[in-house]
Amino acid sequence: MSDLPYIVGNWKMNGLRGMLSEARSIDRASARYPKVQVALTPPATLIHRLHEAMQSIGIGGQDCHAEESGAYTGDLSAQMLKDAGADFVIVGHSERRAVHNETDAMVRGKAEGALAGGLSVIVCVGETEAERDAGKAEEIVAGQVEGSVPRGKGAELRLSVAYEPVWAIGTGRVASVDDVAAMHRNIRAKLVSIYGEAGSGVRILYGGSVKPDNAAELMAADEVGGALVGGASLSAESFMGIVDAASQKVAE
Ligand code: PEP
Repeated sequence: MSDLPYIVGNWKMNGLRGMLSEARSIDRASARYPKVQVALTPPATLIHRLHEAMQSIGIGGQDCHAEESGAYTGDLSAQMLKDAGADFVIVGHSERRAVHNETDAMVRGKAEGALAGGLSVIVCVGETEAERDAGKAEEIVAGQVEGSVPRGKGAELRLSVAYEPVWAIGTGRVASVDDVAAMHRNIRAKLVSIYGEAGSGVRILYGGSVKPDNAAELMAADEVGGALVGGASLSAESFMGIVDAASQKVAE
């Protein structure tokens, strides 16, 4: 697993063909940051087009089914995403957990399906506001990591974990740097308890209203190996501001 900062833009259900020009701008600009690993997860309809047009950045899916194929109307398998040109997939995003009732066990199944299909995987975890207010954030997130990350030989080598407090996603509210660092240490401890020493090599990304003006301090926090970026990834200008902030971390 690379230890370069990993900045991943999640376009969610946004992006028609007209957005290809934005992706091209991101791709061109990313070539100037060889010490930052940059990737986008467009809607599945654009994966192949981006794969063909991009040279510097990774392309991923936003979800996959646990199975390789079958009677699952509307779903996509990891093998299909890979066939379209993806090299990784996000699973367990809080929007999928909330809107599609995905449990930890389902997320783990998807993560293992992703690895079996030849992709790397980003597993998302994060507490709700009520859980944080109840003082249960660390316990909840540790439980999500335990239940959601893939097992099996070498699983940790193609795994990243994204910590995304639900209350910070798309809201403009950002977790404090101290809280982010504390949670990332908590996740690290859980990963080491699951994978042994190899768990210390898994990158842990922060996500939740990351913008160019807060990215540098978040990227500098303990155990933060990159960012999962929603809204700010839809514009090359704001997304590259975050990539630039991540590059400062490498330069330090
Ligand atoms: C996300 O969708 O994973 C996310 C973090 O969104 P935003 O950056 O818009 O909060």
